[in-house]
Amino acid sequence: MIREFTGKALETDPNFVRVELIDDPAAIAEFGFEARCEGDDLICRRCGNAKLSIAAILVVPAGGHARWALCANCLLEMP
Ligand SMILES: [Zn+2]
Repeated sequence: MIREFTGKALETDPNFVRVELIDDPAAIAEFGFEARCEGDDLICRRCGNAKLSIAAILVVPAGGHARWALCANCLLEMP
């Protein structure tokens, strides 16, 4: 089953440039499931280590809803 996200994208406010940090484990699991549906695995965007579990996901609305997964190590190294 492939879910459509076009409706969501159309509602995007062009002035909304804030980055959203998702650290809720249930939400992260949901994002991981969506990524796998798109043939993508949820691995840390910064270090690319697939063995590390994802601690948070950074959503960048300005970048076409880019989702950056971050492991606990990289999350702590964020400025
Ligand atoms: Zn990492």
